[in-house]
Amino acid sequence: MSTQTGTQAASGTGTAAETAAATASGTGAGAGTAEIGVTGLAVMGRNLARNFARHGFVTAVHNRSAAKMHSLVADHGDEGTFIGSESMADFVASLARPRKVVIMVKAGAPTDAVIDELVPLLEEGDIVIDAGNAHFPDTIRREKDLSARGLHFVGTGVSGGEEGALLGPSIMPGGTTEAYASLGPILEAISAKVDGVPCCTHVGPGGAGHFVKMVHNGIEYADMQLIAEAYDLLRQGLGASAQEIGDVFAEWNTGDLESFLIEITADVLHHTDARTGGAFVDVIADAAEQKGTGRWTVQNGLDLGVPITGIAEATFARALSGGAPQRAAAVGTLPADTQPWEVPDRDAFVDDVRKALYASKVVAYSQGFDQIAAASAEYGWDIDRGAMARIWRGGCIIRARFLNRITEAYERDRGLPLLLADPYFTAAVADGVAAWRRIVAAAALHGVPTPAFASSLAYYDGVRAERLPAALIQAQRDFFGAHTYRRVDVEGTFHTDWSGDRSEQPA
Ligand code: NAP
Repeated sequence: MSTQTGTQAASGTGTAAETAAATASGTGAGAGTAEIGVTGLAVMGRNLARNFARHGFVTAVHNRSAAKMHSLVADHGDEGTFIGSESMADFVASLARPRKVVIMVKAGAPTDAVIDELVPLLEEGDIVIDAGNAHFPDTIRREKDLSARGLHFVGTGVSGGEEGALLGPSIMPGGTTEAYASLGPILEAISAKVDGVPCCTHVGPGGAGHFVKMVHNGIEYADMQLIAEAYDLLRQGLGASAQEIGDVFAEWNTGDLESFLIEITADVLHHTDARTGGAFVDVIADAAEQKGTGRWTVQNGLDLGVPITGIAEATFARALSGGAPQRAAAVGTLPADTQPWEVPDRDAFVDDVRKALYASKVVAYSQGFDQIAAASAEYGWDIDRGAMARIWRGGCIIRARFLNRITEAYERDRGLPLLLADPYFTAAVADGVAAWRRIVAAAALHGVPTPAFASSLAYYDGVRAERLPAALIQAQRDFFGAHTYRRVDVEGTFHTDWSGDRSEQPA
C-alpha cells in the first residue's frame, strides 16, 4: 500500500494508485516519481525525509514497521510531497530512475538486512546511500558488493543529530563521482549553509565519507574532553561556581574559541537542576559513555601509525570515568600528596586556561587531519582536507569559527604535512605555549587530571624536537631482537653484535 501527500498528489502528476499499480503489474522500472527515498524513519530518517520534502523534493518514505511511516505522513505531510509505502517493493517502485535510496537505520547488521531486501528490487545505475554511522570497512565491503551488481553505493556521513537532520546537517558522501553528479545537488540543497556555501561535498570514493565522519566524531571526543578539562581546571583552580564558569565559556564564545560545543557548555553550566536547585552539572553521574566512533578512530590511528593522542586520551578518559571498580578502589586510597591550590591572579589564570585549551585543540585537529591524510594515501581517496574543514563549519557538532582557518591553511598548501606548521597556527599556538606549560604543570602539581591538555603538549614538544629518545629505543630493539637500525652519519641499515664482540655489521 502506498500513501501520497502534498502538492504532487494535488496537481495530479502521479498518484498512489498509479504507484501501487506499477508495482503490482511488475513494471516498476522508471514508473515512480519520487526524487529521493528514505527507508528507516526513526528520529534521524524522519527528520532527513522532512528536510528533503521541505526543499521541494518528492520524497518516498518507508520503515520496517509501517507505523513510523504513517505517523510521519500524518504529522508532517503538509511540509512537502511524501510518497509513503508499507512494503519495500512499493517504496522502490515509487522512485524515479536512477533511484536514490537513503538507508537510515541502526548501523551494522540492520543496514545489511535492509540492503539485502532492497538490492533485488533495484536496477543498474540506481544509487543506495547509507547515511547511518557505518564503520568504514563495512562501507568499503558494501561498495564492492553493490558495484559488482551495477549499483552505486554511497556511504555518507551525516552529522548534526536530530536537529541537524531536519534543519541542515553536515553531509560527507563517499562513493563514485558519477553517483555524486546526480545525488550531490539534492544533498547539498538540504545541508547546512555557511556564507551561502553548502556543508556537503564529495569526500572521495569508497568508504571515504564514513571515514571522514568517523574522524569528525573522534575530533568531537577530543574537543569535548578538552572543554571538560578546562572546566575542571577553572573549578578546582579558582573554586569558581558552575554559573561563573558558564560566564567564562560564554565570554570565550565571542573569540577564537567560538563554536557550538563552547556555546552549549556555557548553556549547560548555567542550567539549574529543577529537583535540587543546584547546578545541573553537579547532579549528573560522572561516567561518560560512548557509542564506538571514538574507539574506531583510535583503532584506526593505531592501524595507520598516526599519533592521534588527543582523541585517544579523550576516549580513554571516558573509559576511566566509567571504570567503577577501579575508581572505587582508588578514591580515598591513593594519596595525592599535593598542596592546596591558590591562584594569585584570577584573570591571568582564566586566560592561561583559554590559551591552553586553544593550543590543545589545534593539536587535536592537526592530528585528526593527519589521520585523514594517511588514510587518503593508504586507500587512494585523494581527500581535500581544506574542503573537509569547510563542510564542518555548519550543521555538525564540531562546527567552529576556527575551521575557516584550517580551510585557509590547506588552501595555501594542499599537501601541508602538519597543520601546526601552517604559519597562522604556528603563531596562534606560539602565543599560548607559555600559558599551556604553566597550566599543565600546575594541574600536575595539584593533582588535577588533564590527559588531553598534557598529551597535546607532549605531542607538540615531541613533534618539534630536533632529536628524540627514539634512538635509544632503536638500540634496545637491536640489542634484544636484532631489529637493526639506521645511523645519522652513514647510509644503510646496521646491526651490532651485542652478545659477541660488539662490532657493527651492515644488515
Ligand atoms: P536508530 O535507533 O539507530 O535505528 C532505528 C531504525 O532502524 C528504525 O527505523 C528501525 O526500524 C530500523 N531498524 C533496526 N533494525 C532493523 C532491521 N533489521 N531491518 C530494518 N530496519 C531496522 O535510529 P536513529 O537514531 O534515527 O539513527 C539512524 C542512523 O543514523 C544510525 O545509523 C545512527 O548511528 C545514525 N546517526 C544518528 C545520529 C543521532 O544523533 N541519533 C546522528 C548521526 C547519525 P523499526 O522502526 O521497524 O524498528
